[in-house]
Amino acid sequence: MVKVCIVGKEQVKSGYPIKEDAVIKLVRAFKEKLKISTGNELVVCEKHLEEAKKKRKEFEGSVIKLVALVSVIAVIAIVLAILNNTFNLLPATFALLFLLGLLMVVLSLFKYYPAVEDRLEPTSKEVKKSISARKKSRR
Ligand SMILES: [Zn+2]
Repeated sequence: MVKVCIVGKEQVKSGYPIKEDAVIKLVRAFKEKLKISTGNELVVCEKHLEEAKKKRKEFEGSVIKLVALVSVIAVIAIVLAILNNTFNLLPATFALLFLLGLLMVVLSLFKYYPAVEDRLEPTSKEVKKSISARKKSRR
């Protein structure tokens, strides 16, 4: 399998794997269905590690902001409905909130950036293991 760095899109020999989360799995399943899967293994190379981590942080920050914003709007909408005694408007309020939530998910996906595993890829681990095994046998 060819390893491709997600930041620079360059082929690399080794790198940090990205976390297999729901979005990654969904995108992969989607690409396989459409037969446009490249079959590449996505990694982040040493050179681009800091950049990938920064982008992930930015993504997480924007999700937190969006969640906070929608929560505040939800609370205000419900409080206003209670204060004005307009409970018949609640279904409309919830429909609006549902749309806002949906918009939030879509916006998050546009900004989506995968997380990078902090562990090294298995091949490097095996190397480490064999080194420590060698050390043990020496004792
Ligand atoms: Zn790179």
